[in-house]
Amino acid sequence: MRSIITLTDLRSARLLSTGRVGLVPTMGYLHEGHLSLVRRAREECDHVVVSIFVNPTQFGPREDLSNYPRDLDRDLSLLEPLGVDLIWMPTAEIMYPPGFQTWVDVETITQPLEGTSRPGHFRGVTTVVAKLFNAVQPHSAYFGQKDAQQAAVIRQMTRDLNFPVEIVICPIVRESDGLAMSSRNVYLDPEQRKAATVLSRALQAAKEAYEEGERDADKIRGKMKEVLASEPLANVQYVSCADYDTLKELNTVTGKALLSMAVFIGKTRLIDNIVLE
Ligand code: AMP
Repeated sequence: MRSIITLTDLRSARLLSTGRVGLVPTMGYLHEGHLSLVRRAREECDHVVVSIFVNPTQFGPREDLSNYPRDLDRDLSLLEPLGVDLIWMPTAEIMYPPGFQTWVDVETITQPLEGTSRPGHFRGVTTVVAKLFNAVQPHSAYFGQKDAQQAAVIRQMTRDLNFPVEIVICPIVRESDGLAMSSRNVYLDPEQRKAATVLSRALQAAKEAYEEGERDADKIRGKMKEVLASEPLANVQYVSCADYDTLKELNTVTGKALLSMAVFIGKTRLIDNIVLE
């Protein structure tokens, strides 16, 4: 496993890699969710590249960029046994040199949900992912369903800009009590950590209602809100029952739907989702 920083070193290493190249983009502080993507890439590719880059342009001015958890040594020790070939850890100056002024902006699908709560977030995500694709030139790239809208936005960008990259979306990895794994879970104190299970409980309750025949999207959203309201530490930002492909809010669930939510537990913003098929 080789760790490199500069674009020149990355390009030289890429020229030497043969066969199918898989890329797993991350912001580090790795957990089992990230590692599941790496394992999948390892199964499907000859050469696995993991990028670790806390991308400043996807954080809003009042978000947690400076506090975002980082532990590079730990990340490297988690990746080593998985047979990763290359780690690319560019600096912010490498990704955004002075004078940088070109952005990738995906339109409609970035507007609702996270787009409403985090203006500019997806412009940062798509720009950095486009740069990662151009630099690494992977055959496939691995993302998590945990960030459902991000997955949809990246699929859209890849189609629209003709990137020759297969986008692989991997299932959400959860803690044993249902909390979706996230680097941000480290911010939660023990009481908040307990309260945080309310997201997956709300999704589960809505899924059960759906399985019992409920198709009214308002009632499904209501079910999630009801469970969230039972947790005093939870401050709901949005609750959504949307079309899986367009992410438009539904009146009635007829096809594949995405149930998703963003909830503050204290100062920590958590997201979670589940797909109704
Ligand atoms: P991040 O480091 O938060 O940018 O995440 C890097 C990648 O890991 C993204 O594609 C995420 O969707 C994915 N990911 C994060 N948490 C999970 C999880 N609990 N299960 C599956 N994938 C995840």
